[in-house]
Amino acid sequence: MTTNTILPDVLQNKRKLNKIAVFTSGGDAPGMNAAIRAVTRAAISKKLKVTGIRHGYQGMIDGDFIPLTASDVSGIIQSGGTILKTGRCEAFKTPEGRQQAYQHLKRAEIDAVVVIGGDGSFSGAMEMSQEFDVSFVGIPATIDNDIYGTDYTIGYETALNTVVDAVDKIRDTARSHGRIFFVEVMGHEAGLLALDSGIASGAEVILIPESTEQHEELEWFLNKGYKQKESSGIIIVAEGDETGGAMKIAEKVKVEHPDLDVRVTILGHIQRGGSPSAKDRINATRMGVAAVEALFDDQKSIMIGLVNEKIVQVPFNKAVKLNHSIDLSLLEIQRLMNF
Ligand code: ADP
Repeated sequence: MTTNTILPDVLQNKRKLNKIAVFTSGGDAPGMNAAIRAVTRAAISKKLKVTGIRHGYQGMIDGDFIPLTASDVSGIIQSGGTILKTGRCEAFKTPEGRQQAYQHLKRAEIDAVVVIGGDGSFSGAMEMSQEFDVSFVGIPATIDNDIYGTDYTIGYETALNTVVDAVDKIRDTARSHGRIFFVEVMGHEAGLLALDSGIASGAEVILIPESTEQHEELEWFLNKGYKQKESSGIIIVAEGDETGGAMKIAEKVKVEHPDLDVRVTILGHIQRGGSPSAKDRINATRMGVAAVEALFDDQKSIMIGLVNEKIVQVPFNKAVKLNHSIDLSLLEIQRLMNF
């Protein structure tokens, strides 16, 4: 890697940064590695030292730190998961846990931290920065794409393509046997992955936590639509749908419609894995560079986002408290396709 400056010359090292840390936290998402690589290389190009914190906030509490060089992050842009490992950490939710984490950061002479994760991880960063003098900048990475203030989160596009690919395969079986498949997609509170994957795979019905109107549509499809078409059915169910998920609703349908051949597929963790899509790699790289720029500009407690393809900075308190709204007109479009 060259030492060419990739950050604009006008940016001063306002905070006199010397060493930054980067870590991944919460649920893993494809593209996290691309973000680690971008943060590391952007920082090194500005002559900063970089420390990787392993295992999320638990690693911060335990002082599980490793130095990162430009070559340590080579060959990872195409891999899913995270080389720094990730995890959830209850101890960080306590003042004692955060105190311990702070002591490790100070001992390692870390001036600022880039956190790659979801809104839970940003809540933790916000909490700590209110108690101690530590600057955090966040990079949104979650397959749910449910964070306020950004059009994209890292990992969403890859997960969407994984789901569509899987549903296409399920459709082959559904069509060959004339079956109805209830396919459960990740999303406890957010239905965007279900909604987008349902449209992209031509699903007959999509059930998401944000809307209950589709239950009538499901009834219509089971009673009339399926029989008219004499073909197959794909019902995409977000795991957080009020019915309690694909298994529960399929059990009910089997009882109410014993004549139908009903099956269930829960896609599960295949949705989180795999090589990140080109778009996720590009977004992760842009956000990683922007996070280092923001730290150079003495920004703290902000998340880097993308709105209309442009980099934006969103205060953590907005990113974690406000909801990412979902465009329910997409359900209308989906209905139109199944008229
Ligand atoms: P995600 O970042 O993917 O939303 P979680 O919600 O599980 O994932 O959060 C990841 C971790 O962030 C938690 O395990 C915890 O260590 C930390 N965290 C979340 N919320 C808080 C909070 N309010 N205070 C302190 N730490 C928090």
